[in-house]
Amino acid sequence: MKKPLVEIKDLKKIYHTPKNETVAVEGFSLRIDEGDFISLVGPSGCGKSTVLSVLAGLTELSDGEISYHEDISVGYMLQHDCLFEWMTILDNVLLGLKIKGALNYDSENYAKDLLKTYGLGDFTSSYPHELSGGMRQRAALIRTLAIKPKLLLLDEPFSALDSQMRITVSEDIGRIIKNQGLTAILITHDLSEAICLSDKIAVLSPRPARVMNVYDIDLPDDLSTAKKRTSAKFGEYYNILSKELYG
Ligand code: ADP
Repeated sequence: MKKPLVEIKDLKKIYHTPKNETVAVEGFSLRIDEGDFISLVGPSGCGKSTVLSVLAGLTELSDGEISYHEDISVGYMLQHDCLFEWMTILDNVLLGLKIKGALNYDSENYAKDLLKTYGLGDFTSSYPHELSGGMRQRAALIRTLAIKPKLLLLDEPFSALDSQMRITVSEDIGRIIKNQGLTAILITHDLSEAICLSDKIAVLSPRPARVMNVYDIDLPDDLSTAKKRTSAKFGEYYNILSKELYG
């Protein structure tokens, strides 16, 4: 039995602007268990990023409740890797720790170990433009991992990559996240990506976002993305989910 990490109950978010107000999220409830990899899929503009932003504490909720079952740190990864071009990969990776005031001998060594473990040990003194798109995304993930988050929020982190690269990089990042034993919530437009990476997929309604259904995804973790994509189960999940999303 998995342990609940975060419970979102009846979340509501209204944005107020001088001209109007937008109800972005309403009646949104979801339980996230420890170790879950959950994808949120839903129509564009339905409120997905708003949910992550509220979870990250960057946006205030208008109503509802978010209960964290323990005191956890949250890591946030966005569409663009947000690496600073004038800083080396190591300095970029240490930036989050510096901002948190948590940079010390141990945390720096931990970050360096992560770079080594995930194949960037020889690139610590390189600059971002010297790395491939996939390596940059890995460096961005390591910068997030360096602060030892328990919950990782991923807002379309692969959408700036071309389709072939997207498959390789998402597989790579997914493997690192599983390896680190993290809990993750991913926003993606790509149903195939969601099926290959997730344990669960929450299908959201058009705006205001609420969870219409949560599907358990049961594909073996040790299978490559290519093998997952050609399996019969993948096809079944894809059909069910696309029917729910696109009718
Ligand atoms: P998604 O991630 O599903 O594309 P968002 O959460 O970004 O959707 O946006 C949901 C709705 O809230 C959209 O109509 C968007 O225009 C609106 N919205 C998002 N952020 C703001 C903001 N800061 N101020 C006003 N409206 C916003």
